[in-house]
Amino acid sequence: TPLSRIRNFSIVAHIDHGKSTLADRLIQLTGTVAERDMKAQMLDAMDIERERGITIKANTVRIDYPAQDGHTYILNLIDTPGHVDFAYEVSRSMRAVEGSLLVVDATQGVEAQTLANVYTAIDADHEIVTVLNKIDLPAAEPERIAAQIEDVIGIDASDACLISAKTGIGIPDVLEAIVKRLPPPHSGDPDAPLKAMLVDSWYDPYLGVVVLVRIMDGTLKKGDNIRMMRTGGKYGVDKLGVFRPAMQDVKELGPGEIGFFTGSIKQVRDTKVGDTITHEKRPCETPLPGFKPSIPVVFCGLFPVDSAEFEDLRDAIEKLALNDASFSFEMETSAALGFGFRCGFLGLLHLEVIRDRIEREYNIDLITTAPSVIYHIFMKDGSVLELHNPADMPDMSKVDHLEEPRIKATILVPDDYLGDVLKLCQDRRGIQLDLTYVGNRAMVVYDLPLNEVVFDFHDRLKSVTKGYASFDYQMDSYREDNLVKMQILVNDEPVDALSTMVHRDRADMRGRAMCAKLKDLIPRQMFKIPIQAAIGGKVIARETLSALRKDVTAKCYGGDATRKKKLLEKQKAGKKKMRQFGKVEIPQEAFISALKMD
Ligand code: GDP
Ligand code: MG
Repeated sequence: TPLSRIRNFSIVAHIDHGKSTLADRLIQLTGTVAERDMKAQMLDAMDIERERGITIKANTVRIDYPAQDGHTYILNLIDTPGHVDFAYEVSRSMRAVEGSLLVVDATQGVEAQTLANVYTAIDADHEIVTVLNKIDLPAAEPERIAAQIEDVIGIDASDACLISAKTGIGIPDVLEAIVKRLPPPHSGDPDAPLKAMLVDSWYDPYLGVVVLVRIMDGTLKKGDNIRMMRTGGKYGVDKLGVFRPAMQDVKELGPGEIGFFTGSIKQVRDTKVGDTITHEKRPCETPLPGFKPSIPVVFCGLFPVDSAEFEDLRDAIEKLALNDASFSFEMETSAALGFGFRCGFLGLLHLEVIRDRIEREYNIDLITTAPSVIYHIFMKDGSVLELHNPADMPDMSKVDHLEEPRIKATILVPDDYLGDVLKLCQDRRGIQLDLTYVGNRAMVVYDLPLNEVVFDFHDRLKSVTKGYASFDYQMDSYREDNLVKMQILVNDEPVDALSTMVHRDRADMRGRAMCAKLKDLIPRQMFKIPIQAAIGGKVIARETLSALRKDVTAKCYGGDATRKKKLLEKQKAGKKKMRQFGKVEIPQEAFISALKMD
């Protein structure tokens, strides 16, 4: 196929603005899938994605479109993940295509993720076709939203396509706009050495690892021996094909084309998004620029509620990791929680999705410890450590200082809730960077510590704005701050699973809140239990759980004073013994509730 008959594009949108529904319509209208095989949200394969309405991994489909000019075009749609946790994958898959459809809900207008995603597309030099969706709804205001897009994003929206992805209005216009207004692949020489971008990869139980590629130069054929330039891995191409959206074999893929191959690759980990694929013999000279592997930024412990399920959990985690190279894990033991895993994720949503899948698909009840970020610890001896788990914090006397990751957060919110949002960000040690208006909504940009966001920032933001705020963030830099490890001691024993890193100024408050919470959660025992929060051995907050007083003396009717006294003494001695040897069992519910910090 000549380059002039190929159009490669992605769809960018804020969540729920209709990206998946539009993709379905494009597939349906071009007869790519027979009507009887059509089901809603063809491209959102996983159940969780479907339930939560989010696309996690990039998906792709090849569509043949007979255009009004009489030629048939190949349209390759890459459906990028919509969520900020997957920002790197989004920016990579954008580099594999030349244009984007910007979908904006005509009843809602520009939202935080609209901005983040469209700027990623602009950074990748995309031509952009604006699509205003949901015009079937009475509340749609396409003119106003088009003006807003020009005003806020700074792109021409005068020729926006007005559509309803739900009813199908305007879909033919979108297809024509793709052909007429998006550019074909810029260059590509079929006879040059192979240069292909690894756009995505995933594990298929029957085929092994499937690799999605965009050919830049050269031709990839079945049976070829290829090499991944960054990782050095060498493979033979067993199966080569395209998605329609079901797999269809092809003999070769040429410049500008997007397709997949398999080649006895064992793990997704062996394939790095953004890597350059070339032939083992006659390789290309320079790899594609800008390669960086995506790395986990949020860590937490996952433990089975029932310790007998540990092996099942290991099995589940290993299977999930096969398909998700950005998810990391290692075994962890905790005095309180037993055997489990310390896991790393790209962000909070990623964490939630994995946890949900373990609970649902593998039927294992989990305890999730408080999420933590990676701290850089600068030791007095000059070495630098990466701390993934507060329990591993070295002795403070050996530490010179700590650095924590900060993010740049963009929040769009109706004016009425602005005050609450500013307060929330301020409470989380935020530094306001910008405040402007998008129509009647405020757009605030904050510099925030990631560790203050991983707890429950999303939930708090949702509740203070009644769900009207939209939120997006990107990782910024590491910066020094006064951070300390706060330990919780129950009956003088430190409980590792409850250790957290906190800012010194907030430690007293957090400590008091945690102790008070635990006091309500831990059932009373035969003896008094101190519950303390401490920093480096110094107690900063304390509660005491009083003992259950078994009234032994009630049995002594009448006034035998000496007997009464003797019994009380026995009781006292027994208590002392219990305190010495008695182990406080903290019930699982107490842990789960305690870890839900607010
Ligand atoms: P995504 O998150 O961008 O992929 O959005 P979806 O395609 O999942 O759509 C989100 C919701 O909006 C779903 O409930 C769709 O049925 C609905 N929706 C999508 N397009 C339209 C439309 O044109 N009109 C109306 N009324 N609803 C739509
Ligand atoms: Mg979707």
